[in-house]
Amino acid sequence: PLVLGIETSCDETGVGIVRGTTLLANTIASSMEEHARYGGVVPEVAARAHLEALEPTLRTAIADAGIELADVDAIAVTSGPGLSGALMVGVGAAKALAVSLGKPLYAVNHLVGHVGADLLDASGGPGHPVELPTIALLVSGGHTSLLLVRDLVSDVELLGETIDDAAGEAFDKVARVLGLPYPGGPQIDRVAADGDPAAIRFPRGLTRPKDLENHRYDFSFSGLKTAVARWVEQRQDAGEEVPVADVAASFREAVVDVLITKALAACRDHGVPRLLLGGGVVANARVRQLAVQRAAEAGVALRIPALSLCTDNGAMIAALGAQLILAGHAPSELTFSADSTLPVTEIQVTR
Ligand code: ATP
Ligand code: MG
Ligand code: FE
Repeated sequence: PLVLGIETSCDETGVGIVRGTTLLANTIASSMEEHARYGGVVPEVAARAHLEALEPTLRTAIADAGIELADVDAIAVTSGPGLSGALMVGVGAAKALAVSLGKPLYAVNHLVGHVGADLLDASGGPGHPVELPTIALLVSGGHTSLLLVRDLVSDVELLGETIDDAAGEAFDKVARVLGLPYPGGPQIDRVAADGDPAAIRFPRGLTRPKDLENHRYDFSFSGLKTAVARWVEQRQDAGEEVPVADVAASFREAVVDVLITKALAACRDHGVPRLLLGGGVVANARVRQLAVQRAAEAGVALRIPALSLCTDNGAMIAALGAQLILAGHAPSELTFSADSTLPVTEIQVTR
């Protein structure tokens, strides 16, 4: 089926078009720069930016795909989780499109959409099924979640998630401590390349035996962020120069070590020899490097979609919508609303 997907859960306005698992268009407008002076995504600013960007993004996607809007078989939209005002813009637009075109609408889960990204080939090739079961590690500015996916359209289990800051958020906050601009992830990555990851032993959240009993697959990054801030402050108070590259490298190592260790523990514990990565933090050079190295050591097959499909986008939402259709799911009734805390087990919101 030819499906148009709309994504507005955070600061990316995404419209994607797929035919089954073949990517036809993946157009994204980001309001990231507007959030830079606040050091993080401001919900109201994001919602207004979606309102402005949605129509041009839609037009560009249709032109890129070389289709007519009337050709689409269905519309898919992210209905949660995410920022509620931002989600409402996409949901409203998707409903309006579905009604005016007389096409079925599928309201889907953003996090499962990230898993669906693996269906697509970013260069527009035919795509392929997601190999299942798989563990999925989703890391971005808004989420840090570990999933067990047995079936993309019917069986997704949340194994763990962050109990405080998301991993990307931690990168952004620590960058601020180090005087680096927003978004902090790419900045820390760049600076860390010249640093020693073993220079400072920063804490690994929720990895002590006692914590692992209740939080085996959960993450915590706020203690780490505080530890970095305190370490930097002490240096400054003592009038010493802050070794920015070493701090960045040591911080990055602490985050990445925990992410990969817990993801591979989930693979081992559940007897699942596959790991899929998703989310904007996958851009991190060390995440990719350590994932490749440790997955190989553990005999785990690693999937990392192209970065354009890892960050928030409409194509992954369209791809998940197409799978729901192929599996024979009925469209969502138009009574549904955006749900900022939609649980990952709810792959499609039916009404
Ligand atoms: P959502 O949480 O809904 O997916 P988001 O907009 O927060 O939305 P993305 O756009 O996927 O998420 O990712 C942005 C986040 O990824 C930011 O926090 C940014 O700092 C982080 N990030 C980007 N590049 C890197 C990198 N090289 N290393 C670490 N973090 C990075
Ligand atoms: Mg973003
Ligand atoms: Fe996301």
